[in-house]
Amino acid sequence: MLAQLLLEPGKIDYREVETPEPGPGEVVVRVTAALTCGTDLKAYLRGHPKMPMPTLFGHEFAGDLAAVGSGVEGFREGDAIMAVPTAPCKACYYCKHQQENLCTTVMDKMVLGAYAEYVKLPSQIVQTNMFPKEASLSYAEAALLEPLSCVVHAINRVALRPDDSVLIIGAGAISLLHVLVLRSMGIERITVLGRRRYRAEAAESAGATVLVATDPASAYAQVAEGTGGRGADVVIECTGQPPVWEQAIQYVRRGGTLVLFGGCPSGTRVSFDTGRLHYDQITVLSPFHFTPRDVEQAQRLLAEGTIDGRPLITDTYRFPDLEQVLALLQQGQGIKYALVPSAI
Ligand SMILES: [Zn+2]
Ligand SMILES: [Zn+2]
Repeated sequence: MLAQLLLEPGKIDYREVETPEPGPGEVVVRVTAALTCGTDLKAYLRGHPKMPMPTLFGHEFAGDLAAVGSGVEGFREGDAIMAVPTAPCKACYYCKHQQENLCTTVMDKMVLGAYAEYVKLPSQIVQTNMFPKEASLSYAEAALLEPLSCVVHAINRVALRPDDSVLIIGAGAISLLHVLVLRSMGIERITVLGRRRYRAEAAESAGATVLVATDPASAYAQVAEGTGGRGADVVIECTGQPPVWEQAIQYVRRGGTLVLFGGCPSGTRVSFDTGRLHYDQITVLSPFHFTPRDVEQAQRLLAEGTIDGRPLITDTYRFPDLEQVLALLQQGQGIKYALVPSAI
């Protein structure tokens, strides 16, 4: 089969590799759509601790079952499916405490190879985190299951009230997914804070108010103005940059909640004013990844059409054009791109 390989940071190659075969309990998916993700761009530019190179590349996908291993129940060859690239072990301490997002092995066996004609899914994913795809849902939208599961996990941890004001920092795909999920819950006071208006246009169309600021002082003044000087009830940081984590707490009202969604590189540090944490009683959450319950919920949101994923997908390209697509993302153009096999 043909697959995009990430050889080293900055270097990819679309080449012939061995087509995977399913073992017992496994399936092989013929990928019909893969989506770009911020993680892909980071890995392409700087490398990634969980992606030793050379490696297959891409982790958001949907497709049809090309081969089904022995013992797989409920799925047949030809079925259209959607899945996430990880599944918990169900045996470790964290899995037994319903914190499967923290499963000790969940990230080790992450499936890579969405930008390839075929991708093999291990039995844990087949059993727990793979679903039939509704015919009404496009493959590209179905491939949103992984990022949407992360966002559902985060929002599930926040005690939200319908009249809460929510400030989302960052204007990319994850920010837009937060807007869509919050809107589906009936939350109307959503503001997206970004550096460039055109990046936030889709969030604006989805019903969010957009604030554009290039420095923290002007951002803070605008947020204060929109919240009676108090700050937002809930602030969700979606950029994953330590300086932005530190600024984010300034936008939270007393007694409010700060959600640090965007992951920073491990080992980096931030500091917060203790007065804001204690005397202003700000709750800080930093949700990571998702549990099978979140995936199921995300799958329903897509399958039932509650979340319309189309505004997230800027354009569609062929697998061989991945380098061109990564260049567009590097220039800050577009939200997510769908990549499809050349033969379709
Ligand atoms: Zn992703
Ligand atoms: Zn586990």
